[in-house]
Amino acid sequence: MWKPTLSPFRKYKKEVFKKDALVADFIYQIGEYEKLREVSKEISVNKITSKEYQKKFKYIKTCLLKYRKLTGTGRGITGVQLGIPERFSVIYTREELKIIVNPIVTKVSNKQFIYPEMCMSANPIIAPTIRPAWIEFTYYDEKGEKQMWITKDNTDQGKILNRVFQHEIDHMEGIINIDLCKSRDLILESDPKFYDNAKFKEVKNV
Ligand SMILES: [Zn+2]
Repeated sequence: MWKPTLSPFRKYKKEVFKKDALVADFIYQIGEYEKLREVSKEISVNKITSKEYQKKFKYIKTCLLKYRKLTGTGRGITGVQLGIPERFSVIYTREELKIIVNPIVTKVSNKQFIYPEMCMSANPIIAPTIRPAWIEFTYYDEKGEKQMWITKDNTDQGKILNRVFQHEIDHMEGIINIDLCKSRDLILESDPKFYDNAKFKEVKNV
């Protein structure tokens, strides 16, 4: 006698969707905020140290910590994802919550890798995204001082960090990782072991 077969990972999926609903409370989602698809505004350098921007930086850091507490993941948020369409992001590194303002990419690796990425504004989609192994860029820190990112750490953690910067800088251009993939390659998060098996794969002749 035929019986319907239910889809796999049902318990895990319920948890995933529950968490996504919680973070969608403060992270703007695709399809609900047109500015996510537009170029964000540059920030006047002399205003970085103003109370207004210091408050915005504090807010974005608080949101990243909240996201990490709710989901156990999350490496970066860009202003536009919080309804602030201005060119700044926060990135979680081992050492700090790093604010970058007005980044300008100055150099890009020729080596490219594909790796499954998630975006807080498009949960629970996993997008296998091809990106250069590293980038170099200039930016202003939260004290208004000009800095440069030139860390080409070849470990997986180093590759992820360089990738997070690219992902966040793309947000400032109105680009989301799902735009860089074919829709047929997208995956919805459901397998709890998915990231245990995720690996960087080099992609040639893109
Ligand atoms: Zn994102």
